[in-house]
Amino acid sequence: MKNLSKANENKLINYPRLHLVAVAVCSLTLVLALTLLPSPDATATKTVRLKTPVSEKQAEEPAIAPAKLAPREQLATLSSERTTLNNAQSINPAAPVTTHTSQDWKVEKIRSGDTLSHIFKRVGLTSKDVHSVMSGGGEVKTLAKIQPNQTIKFNIQDDTLQALEYIISRTESLLVEKSDNGYQAIRSIKNLKPFTSYAEGTINSSLFLAAQKAGLSDNLTMSLAGIFGWDVDFALDIREGDSFKVIYQELYLNGEKVKDGQILAAEFTNQGKTFTAVRYDSPTQGSNYYTPEGDSMRKAFLRSPIDFARISSHFNLSRKHPVLHTIRAHKGTDYAASRGTPIKATGDGKVVYAGRKGGYGNVVIIQHGQTYKTLYAHMNNYARGIRSGKRVRQGQVIGYVGSTGLATGPHLHYEFYQNGAVRNPVTVKLPHAEPIAKADKNAFLALSKQMQGQLSTYAAAMKSENLARLGE
Ligand SMILES: [Zn+2]
Repeated sequence: MKNLSKANENKLINYPRLHLVAVAVCSLTLVLALTLLPSPDATATKTVRLKTPVSEKQAEEPAIAPAKLAPREQLATLSSERTTLNNAQSINPAAPVTTHTSQDWKVEKIRSGDTLSHIFKRVGLTSKDVHSVMSGGGEVKTLAKIQPNQTIKFNIQDDTLQALEYIISRTESLLVEKSDNGYQAIRSIKNLKPFTSYAEGTINSSLFLAAQKAGLSDNLTMSLAGIFGWDVDFALDIREGDSFKVIYQELYLNGEKVKDGQILAAEFTNQGKTFTAVRYDSPTQGSNYYTPEGDSMRKAFLRSPIDFARISSHFNLSRKHPVLHTIRAHKGTDYAASRGTPIKATGDGKVVYAGRKGGYGNVVIIQHGQTYKTLYAHMNNYARGIRSGKRVRQGQVIGYVGSTGLATGPHLHYEFYQNGAVRNPVTVKLPHAEPIAKADKNAFLALSKQMQGQLSTYAAAMKSENLARLGE
C-alpha cells in the first residue's frame, strides 16, 4: 500500500484490521480494488476514499474530467506517478529558478501591522528601495497585499537588493528580481495534484453533522448545499434519512494534502427524491453543475429574495386584507424580517421601476427577459445605484426590508409574474438557467454517464465494505 497518501497511512496505522481488509479487497476484483477507509466513528455515516491520480493534462485543468475507473492499472501506475511527482518538483517550471544560494537569503516573517517599509528597514534596505521595487514590472503590486505570518526572503548583495521572494501560501509565491529595466516580478503557482475521493452519508440531524462524519470539510459541505440549494431548502426540507454521495477532488503537493478541490459529481436524496449533479467545465460557458441530462442545476430564479426568512403571509387571491379589512387578493408572499434585512434580485434582469407606488410603498420591479417580472415592496430604502434602467444580477442586493406603504410591520412583499399573470412565488415552477451548450452536449453526456457509473460503483464498494464489516 505504498500508494497511499501520508494521511491515509496514518489512518491505517490506527486501524490495522481494516488495513488488512483493504489489502485483501484490493487484490480481488476491479470494484473491490478501491481503497476502503471507513471513518473512525462510522455508524450511519460512512466514507470511502479512493485516491486516483489523474493525467497530467487533467492536472492542469483539474475539474474537466474525473479520473477513469481502472483501479488495477492505477495500482500498477501509482508508484510511478509518485516518482513523476518527485521529478516534477525538481523541474517544476513554476518554481523560481535563481542562482542565489540559500545562505544569501535573509528571511523575514511579516508581523502584525507591518508595512513593506518596516520589513525593508529590518533587513537594512531603505524606502527608496521600496519605491524602486513597487515601480517595477510584472505582478509587483501583489506586494501591497502582505499579510501577517507570511514570509519574504531577501537577497541583498553590496547593499543592493538583487531579488526577493514573497511566499504567499504553500502553493503560491512572487519572485522579484533586479534586471536592466528595474525590478521584475513573476508570480508562480505550484501544480497541485488532484486525487479523486468519494464520501457518502445519511443525515440524522443536520447536513453539516452528517457531512462532518463523512469526512467532508465545511467548504465542501457548503458547495454541496450550493449545488442542490435550488431544489432543496436546507433550512426547511431536510428530513432524517436524507442522504448524499459525493465524488470530489483533494489537491496534493509533494504527497501532502493542501486543500479540497471541486465536487465532480454528487447525488442528494431528499424525502425520497434523488437529485444528481455533474460538474462540467466548458471553454465557453465556464464551470457549472448540470442534471445528468444537461439541464442547469441552477434555476433562472432564486425561490426567495431573502435568506432564512419566515413566510408571514401566503399568496392568496381571496384573502381579507389586514389593514383595509376587505376581501382583497394577496398577490404575493410576505417574508417577515427585521428592518434593514437585504433583499436580493431573484433573477438576472433590468429594473423597470424603482420608486413609491401607493400601498406598495418603496417598490422595485424587475423585468427578466420577455416572460418574467418580479416585484419587491415596502422597502425601507434601495441599494446604492438601484434605479430604473439598471441591470441587476441574480442575488444582487437591490434594497432593504422596511414597512413603507400599507404595512403592519417590517416585511418584504414579493410578487412573481409570468406572461403578465401573477403567480404564487412559493409554488411556481421555476425555469432552469441555460442548459449545457450545444457544442458541449456530446462530451457532457459521455462524462455524465461515466460519473453516474462512478457514483454507483463507489456506493456498491461501500456497501460490500459494510457487509464485510458486519460479518467480522
Ligand atoms: Zn404582502
